[in-house]
Amino acid sequence: MTDAAPQDDLAARILAGDRRALARAVTLVESTRSDHRAQATTLIETLRGHGRQALRIGLSGTPGVGKSTFIEAFGMALVEAGLKVAVLAVDPSSSRSGGSILGDKTRMERLSRERAAFIRPSPSASHLGGVARRTREAVTLCEAAGFDVVLIETVGVGQSETMVAEMCDLFVLLLAPAGGDELQGVKRGIMEIADLVLVNKADGDLKPAATRTVADYAGALRLLRKRPQDPEGFPKAMPVSAVTGDGLEGAWTEVQALARWRKDHGWWDRRRAEQAAHWFEEEVRAGLLSRLRDDPQVREAMAVTAEAVAEGRMTPDSAAADILQRLRS
Ligand code: GDP
Repeated sequence: MTDAAPQDDLAARILAGDRRALARAVTLVESTRSDHRAQATTLIETLRGHGRQALRIGLSGTPGVGKSTFIEAFGMALVEAGLKVAVLAVDPSSSRSGGSILGDKTRMERLSRERAAFIRPSPSASHLGGVARRTREAVTLCEAAGFDVVLIETVGVGQSETMVAEMCDLFVLLLAPAGGDELQGVKRGIMEIADLVLVNKADGDLKPAATRTVADYAGALRLLRKRPQDPEGFPKAMPVSAVTGDGLEGAWTEVQALARWRKDHGWWDRRRAEQAAHWFEEEVRAGLLSRLRDDPQVREAMAVTAEAVAEGRMTPDSAAADILQRLRS
């Protein structure tokens, strides 16, 4: 048997939609072992260009807003409509915070039992760069396995949303009804990437507050953003209830309408092309840095230079130029 054979087999099984093969492949792309990395790269290359595209949806919200309840209900609705749904979680902070694990199957019990669903929790991976690559590759694997929708779930903290936005076709922000009339501590950055703001828990006693919150955000979104890739009426704010299911069908209709519009107007392909270019640059940047760090001499020089910079004996710019000069020579 040649070295390539097991991956070819794995690739064939993924293309046939085998969930266990998909899970194995995701484990492979998560591995940091260099032989696994080489196998993962070969696998991804083999699967590239299979012509399948999923709708990639980013979903963000602070803990407790109802992400898992929403994904369970929304995912089940999609599965019942005959679609295959994958859920990938991105939580670069999970290892540090020790908080709830995103994409934990016990948080989405019904969905995880569905044959047409695939749920993958956030790996305990360390840095954002590693998580980004793993997630991009996992998306490719899910697309190859014939998934129609890939939900990429992340928490409302740090840089993870920006990263997720760079790998999905559209972005959904989940919010809870606000008590007062102030906009919740939502950072401007995330408002700029959200295509759909869903105010969850619009049920029972919380309904009036949800309605108010929707109005507040609809106003804020109108003021904040007008981009050519947003059709009339987008970004949009809507109430939903993950518990009663109210508004979920409407949210799916809006997602599809936006995706359709962007496809028809060339923005879909353009965005994917820009994302590919972005990740190419990121990989080059990361590769250069690791090459610097992997070389013991350069590492030593980096440490010495960093000290010189810290003590004000060198400027950051000239120190960086110094180190980069070493790469050239
Ligand atoms: P996550 O941390 O964002 O994944 O949030 P969870 O899905 O675990 O939900 C946090 C809490 O909010 C749980 O107690 C849920 O039952 C509750 N919850 C989630 N969605 C809704 C909803 O639509 N309405 C109401 N009333 N409660 C909800």
